[in-house]
Amino acid sequence: MKLTYMLQPSLRQKITFGYYVVACLILGVSLFTFEELRLVEQKIYLGERISEIFDSAMEIRRFERNYFLHRQAPDYQENVRYVTQLRALLGKDKADFELLEAPQRIKILSGELERYDDLMRQYVRTISAYPAQGAALEQRVREAGKAIVSLAEEMVTSERRLVRSSLSAFRKILVFSIVGLALLMVAVGQALSRRVVQPLLQIERSVEAISSGKRDKLSVTSRDREIVSISDAFNHMLHELELRQKHLLRSEKLASLGTMLSGVAHELNNPLSNIWSSCQILLEEINDADIEVQKALLMQIDEQSVRARNIVRSLLDFARDKQFNKERLPLRALIEQTLRFIKGEVPATVTLTIDVPEDLVLLADKQRLQQAFLNLIKNALQAIAGQGAIVISAKRYSPTPATEERTAFFSGCRVENDAVDITIKDSGPGIAPEVLPRIFDPFFTTKDVGKGMGLGLFIVYQVIDEHEGCIAASSEAGKGTTFLIRLPLGES
Ligand code: ADP
Repeated sequence: MKLTYMLQPSLRQKITFGYYVVACLILGVSLFTFEELRLVEQKIYLGERISEIFDSAMEIRRFERNYFLHRQAPDYQENVRYVTQLRALLGKDKADFELLEAPQRIKILSGELERYDDLMRQYVRTISAYPAQGAALEQRVREAGKAIVSLAEEMVTSERRLVRSSLSAFRKILVFSIVGLALLMVAVGQALSRRVVQPLLQIERSVEAISSGKRDKLSVTSRDREIVSISDAFNHMLHELELRQKHLLRSEKLASLGTMLSGVAHELNNPLSNIWSSCQILLEEINDADIEVQKALLMQIDEQSVRARNIVRSLLDFARDKQFNKERLPLRALIEQTLRFIKGEVPATVTLTIDVPEDLVLLADKQRLQQAFLNLIKNALQAIAGQGAIVISAKRYSPTPATEERTAFFSGCRVENDAVDITIKDSGPGIAPEVLPRIFDPFFTTKDVGKGMGLGLFIVYQVIDEHEGCIAASSEAGKGTTFLIRLPLGES
């Protein structure tokens, strides 16, 4: 792996980082909410205590009023009891009151309570000694009691206000947190989609383009380590497959070469034996024969040598790994030459007919097209298995009238004008309908192991495609097979 990619954070690291960020945020918001809830709870508890303070103040005033009316000792005792209770309430957990906006109030209230208590005691002492002098003191006690109640009331109101404002702040925080987290989730989702889903979609599109032949390499823009290593591994695999395919195509070519070699050996036999017999005659009659006969024999040797040289040359032509090289080729001669390679394999029980006009000229790579025809004829010979007929025919393509068969064959074929339709028809057993759509696939074969590699028709397809032509097969079980090829003509 390249160093630059090594330094890139991996997708896993990014996702883990994103996960921790979200988790920390959720934890932070939860802690904050928990703390706010605790404060609200504390304020509600404080509210209960303030209510108790208020209730005690009210009770003080109630027993004060009863005492003023009936001057009964139990009323005064109750009044004192509530004063003590209120004092205790004000003195307990003073720090809690800090939460209230005005802790000062507690101090004032405590002061007022002490003043009230003093006045009340003074009043009780006065009326027991001089009952007529109580009126002025009674008025002062009432005022002090009123002050206590109104201070308690103020505390209740301010505490309620405080709880209400805390709850509303709490609600706002909660809404903000939910909205914030939702936005964060959307952002994380989008980042994940950008980092993971998009590159995967890119890979999917690239793979589709590769399989349809529009591209030969996987290319992704992502620099994430995992995506880069997937794309590197995939490209490496493509490279390996390409090498392997080249290797297999070479083996297929070698197999064709073997077939041709036996045909060539057979073909060479004739001129060689002609040369040999001419030489024999010449040797025997070198002194007796007249000069014209000797000349004729030498000319035959010359002719047969040229024939043998041409046969060897065509074999060399085929075997050489040449660049794609188009030249003007008469179709009939090309087919005849190809058949010559394979003549040795055609038994007498097979009829081979060529119905190709002389005037059709292609602009094609001779070696490649010969290989394609050779593969098709070899397949036909194997299909008829020694008994039957093969017909190779060709006619100039004319768009009107199109036969139904040809229209169905070539729906989608872009070659239209100045083209030739070549058919290779055999009387073999045909191709089963479930096999037919797969015959051009590489490595598809129905033949036994060692008898077929499944590359013959794949090569034919490639060659026709390289020549901007089209090929299709039609077959019905029991009615033989027809391969139809349409190629552009190279006439100027
Ligand atoms: P191979 O000949 O090595 O099997 P090909 O690509 O040449 O590979 O052919 C693929 C398959 O197509 C063959 O195995 C065979 O089933 C079928 N096929 C090709 N040509 C014919 C034909 N003329 N008649 C019947 N079947 C054929």
